[in-house]
Amino acid sequence: MLLDLFAGLPFYLLWPVLAAIGLSWYFLICGGLYLLLQRSRFAGRARRFKTQMQPTRSRQVRGEIFDGTLSMTMVMGCVALSFWFSYHGYNKLYASPGEYPLWAIPLSVVGVFLVMEIFEWAFHWACHRNDWLWQVHKHHHRYSNPTPFGVMADQPVDMFIKASPIIWIPFLFPILDVALIGTFASMNFLYGTYLHAGYDPPWMPSPHSRFMLSAWHHNEHHAGSLDHNYGFFTGFMDILAGTRLTPSDKAAKRPSYRCTECRSVESDRSPAIAG
Ligand SMILES: [Zn+2]
Ligand SMILES: [Zn+2]
Repeated sequence: MLLDLFAGLPFYLLWPVLAAIGLSWYFLICGGLYLLLQRSRFAGRARRFKTQMQPTRSRQVRGEIFDGTLSMTMVMGCVALSFWFSYHGYNKLYASPGEYPLWAIPLSVVGVFLVMEIFEWAFHWACHRNDWLWQVHKHHHRYSNPTPFGVMADQPVDMFIKASPIIWIPFLFPILDVALIGTFASMNFLYGTYLHAGYDPPWMPSPHSRFMLSAWHHNEHHAGSLDHNYGFFTGFMDILAGTRLTPSDKAAKRPSYRCTECRSVESDRSPAIAG
């Protein structure tokens, strides 16, 4: 399907064409949600669901958009590489559902889900434990009160590693192009946009949810404790590793809690406030 659309394009054209498509989606979805939540008539009514009540600063939003543009370009570079490997027969990314048994499609989606849950959590956890990786990842933590644009506001190397499963998953098992890109985009981009938007409406997972990650959990990772809530979709790995933090146990973990208020004490690991 997707592979057929771009077949025949040389890599130096494939990457910019895919980047333009990715950036269109970024501005449409993240920009649309930002305008709806913060700049429309609906903004006043939505405010009661806002996690942090301080206003967003325009300098911060400009920074998120700049970082997001670079990072989306890196993600689409991963997609372009994955497609290029497929065109040249190096990986098992395929275009037609009939190329492998149909049952392989849902199985491969489960495979992507598990790889994403474990790999993204482990890399994020490592970024907060390893000094070299922290130098890369702390860029994302400049945004303590993120907006929907913040979903992609990473240092480009950080985002390249996060998006690298798009390159290496098709080397592990056969996967339909739409299944790979669709699952990745749903889990990382769409759900990630909700996580960074900073609103907890009642129809989304509750901050008290035992399993799912809500916007509260990721907001807390940005604005509160750097030592908790490393997941991006479910809390599965955080629960296993004991790094899950919910509103009810926040107070109990306060003694070992790197929080917003502790920034002046622990300035080396604490995110600077942008804007
Ligand atoms: Zn982090
Ligand atoms: Zn984040």
